[in-house]
Order: sequence, then C-alpha cells, then structure tokens
Amino acid sequence: MSDLSFSPLKEAVFAANIQLVKAGLVVLTWGNASAVDRERGVVAIKPSGVAYDVLRPEDIVLISLETGQPLPGEKLRPSSDTPTHVCLYQRFSTIGGIAHTHSRHATSWAQACREIPCYGTTHADTFSGPVPLCRPLTTQEIEEAYEWNTGMVIAGHFETNHLDPLHSPGVLLSFHAPFAWGETAAKAVENAIVVEEVAALALHTEALNPQAKTTPQSILDKHFHRKHGKDAYYGQQKDTSTTL
Ligand SMILES: [Zn+2]
Repeated sequence: MSDLSFSPLKEAVFAANIQLVKAGLVVLTWGNASAVDRERGVVAIKPSGVAYDVLRPEDIVLISLETGQPLPGEKLRPSSDTPTHVCLYQRFSTIGGIAHTHSRHATSWAQACREIPCYGTTHADTFSGPVPLCRPLTTQEIEEAYEWNTGMVIAGHFETNHLDPLHSPGVLLSFHAPFAWGETAAKAVENAIVVEEVAALALHTEALNPQAKTTPQSILDKHFHRKHGKDAYYGQQKDTSTTL
C-alpha cells in the first residue's frame, strides 16, 4: 500500500497534535494524539520525542491495529505510548481518536488520585458522570508491559463499571495524567480540552467551597442528553441537505 493513501489520516493526526499544543495542553513533548482507520486496520500516531515545531504530517507513524507494530517502511519510532493507544482502539470499538496530555489541572487530579466530580453543567455537557480515575498499575503490570497494561487497566475500569467510552470520553490515570478520546482525532483533542477545563473548574469550586455539592442527577442528565444520543437537540442538525 502506498504511503500517499494514508495522507488524510496523517494530516488529521498531525493537526490534532498541533492543536494540543495550541490549546496549551502540552509542555515540551509531553503529549500525543492518534487516530485509527478501522477499515484498513491502521493507527496513525505522533513519532516519539519529535519537537512540535519541526513535526511534519509525513512524520506521523503508521501502526497495525492488529499487531501494534509499525507498518513496513516506517522509519521513525512511534510515541512510546503507542501500545496504550492500540489497546484502547482494540477494546473501545466506537472511538476513532485518542489524545494524551499532561495538562496541568487534569494531571493534578490524577496525581491526587481523585476522580473529577461533576460540579456543574460545563462538565455535564460532555461527561455523563465524574471524569473516572483508574487504579495505579501493579508492579507486575509495570514490569511486564507498562504501556499496553495502561490500556488494559483503563479498558478494565470501563468494563467493570459499565461505562460507555463515548459517555465518559476521558479518564485519569492514578499518579500519571489524562487520556481523552472521541469519534475522531479532532474530537479527542476537544475532549482533552474539556477534561483540562473541568479539572480547573472543579479545583476552584472546591477552593471556594470545600463542601460543594455535585450536580443533581436531573441537571446532569438534562445537559448530557441534550447534546448526546437519540434525543439530542443542541446545535445544528447533522443530517441536512444544505451546506452549512
Ligand atoms: Zn503520559
């Protein structure tokens, strides 16, 4: 297969990575974004340790969704977090893009080993509950296959707690940082921005009122479902014959 045929996928992943920086979510090279082409079984992800100001679309590395290995001919090493991305694409069949950052406020909650409670409608517009927190990896999981097992712990948490990845489009890893995802790489970046923003809002909310109450379920449900699912009515209709 020719490299050229993956140009749109590489462009989308390049744009998502640049967007993470522009949104202020990435310091140095502490972040990565990817996307998957499920029809062709290929994941595209940022190369490892390449500075954003010299990153080019053609540098984006193509990986087999099935094996997690770079496609033949790839020269740059993929992000060291690639096995986490591949694991999540394999386990969450509805997602098309993933963004990982060490953004300041979300990472603070992850380091405090706290989920982010839903304190208001800004949060409820995107998450149908708290931003979940995953347990830390065990010593054995770390030594055996750290990045792959990070994905396994996230997927296991969602499965055990019956969470829908598109209703909770992000997670905090204890002692680490957030991962966010969505139907596309651009949507994953948007959700990474949401996670960072609600993390900052929740921190300020608790600073102003340590006894702050979480959002009543009825408000949470209203805000989430007016944007998501079959009864959503926020924004413009997607199925329209006119060009918007
Ligand atoms: Zn990380």
